[in-house]
Amino acid sequence: MLFDTNISASLRCTHCGRLVIEEISLFNLSRGSILEENCECGNRLFRVRSSESKTFCVYINCIACDKEHLYVFNSRQVLSEKVKILSCPNSGLDIAFVGNRRLVREMAVKHQKDLQELIKVLEG
Ligand SMILES: [Zn+2]
Ligand SMILES: [Zn+2]
Repeated sequence: MLFDTNISASLRCTHCGRLVIEEISLFNLSRGSILEENCECGNRLFRVRSSESKTFCVYINCIACDKEHLYVFNSRQVLSEKVKILSCPNSGLDIAFVGNRRLVREMAVKHQKDLQELIKVLEG
């Protein structure tokens, strides 16, 4: 069985607030190496580190509380499941989506819409 080893991560830049969708190739992530993704503004978005062949860690700069949070994933699980919603342990806000590329994109767009609608409601 052939797996698509690319996943996407969607999150907001803590510096400029831009919504970013980045692709991560788990296949290219060699053991022990760290992959860093930066925003166009130069701010670091997240880091991915593979600890063993089956798991990897994602360090996300949190838009909600300005700290870095660690999430540990099972590669196979992430690739076979749909989307994982990562929330901030301090504020409970959803800060990122990780998983299937198409679904992450859909989630990000929907989330974006929800936020815009919320802002509209708030602004009356
Ligand atoms: Zn930025
Ligand atoms: Zn947080």
